[in-house]
Amino acid sequence: MDIAVPREIKNHEYRVGMTPGGVHELTRAGHRVRVESGAGAGVGFSDEQYAAAGAELVSDVEALFAGAELIVKVKEPQPEEYRRLKPGQVLFTYLHLAPDEAQTKGLLASGCTAIAYETVTDAQGGLPLLAPMSEVAGRMAVQAGAHCLEKAQGGRGVLLGGVPGVLPARVLVLGGGVVGINAARMAMGLGADVTIFDKSLARLKELDALYGPRLKTLYSTADAIEAELARADLVIGAVLIPGASAPKLVTRAMLKKLPRGAVLVDVAIDQGGCFETSKPTTHQQPTFEVDGVVHYCVANMPGGVARTSTLALTNATLPFVQALANKGWRRALSDNAHLAEGLNVHNGKVVYQAVAEAHQLQH
Ligand code: NAD
Repeated sequence: MDIAVPREIKNHEYRVGMTPGGVHELTRAGHRVRVESGAGAGVGFSDEQYAAAGAELVSDVEALFAGAELIVKVKEPQPEEYRRLKPGQVLFTYLHLAPDEAQTKGLLASGCTAIAYETVTDAQGGLPLLAPMSEVAGRMAVQAGAHCLEKAQGGRGVLLGGVPGVLPARVLVLGGGVVGINAARMAMGLGADVTIFDKSLARLKELDALYGPRLKTLYSTADAIEAELARADLVIGAVLIPGASAPKLVTRAMLKKLPRGAVLVDVAIDQGGCFETSKPTTHQQPTFEVDGVVHYCVANMPGGVARTSTLALTNATLPFVQALANKGWRRALSDNAHLAEGLNVHNGKVVYQAVAEAHQLQH
């Protein structure tokens, strides 16, 4: 199969849809892989590394798209990209179509088959192509929070791990899912005093069994959160109610309970944020202050560590790319119901119910 890997063109997107290692797996299996020149430059993969893995480097992006049967990307196609797509081509990437009417119309008009990373499922009911980015964001939340706690960043001047004779910082993690457990793990690793909140008792039991007394668990209620705020240095927002906006677990009034210079990291900002005072920020200007509390609300945290994120994402996508390439998309989807959940658009129709409903289309 002819597989194309374009360079990502969305603003400040440095990730790439396939590593040289992934290319090699596919070329070894007899596929033709064409990679746009410079596609991996932002994350340290040179054209020479792709060529050594068997890729053909292409600088004419129109020609790259025109000859492709399968296009593997990271971000949703931008207008100039979806205008290049045509019937018979398969696009495999993050799409997030529900809130994006222009892209949905563009993909419908193209006649292509679009399979979305974010709706592929696994046998445990998880989202295996979203999970790697939650792992990255959860771990990064602690790194970002630790930095923000420094005086020069507006923080209260507290070191997460303390030192002998000085207590460690207190970290609250709201939500014990993929982001939350990764944040808790990093914070514990740095020696912080960590409490994790969840609404799911089953999840709290799992976390307790995993980490024992090193990790404190608390059932998530407004009162329990409010009571803990007074002694918190860093609060990480990691809740998710699938398909809904994040619940506001810390209100503006509750900010007064926090010590001045405490830090809130709102990882759930992509779902509206779980602190009332959150608003999306960027890697260029990641923080702002409300009532003496530092807020870090970067909506695309994994982009800040694009090399790790590329490796984590492509580890998860490669087996699906191989199935699509080896079997063709129809058989790959009929053999794997979880991959089939990824199908969002085919032949001018939205075929994923939630996206069709969002755009009031029949699916
Ligand atoms: P997840 O489904 O694995 O975990 C969410 C957890 O929140 C679940 O355990 C759930 O029981 C818990 N929860 C729900 N309501 C709660 C409440 N009121 N109090 C406490 N816990 C509650 O989801 P995830 O993969 O960990 O993602 C968490 C959030 O992080 C999502 O909004 C996701 O979109 C976001 N995210 C953001 C970035 C970024 O760059 N900002 C990157 C990755 C993920």
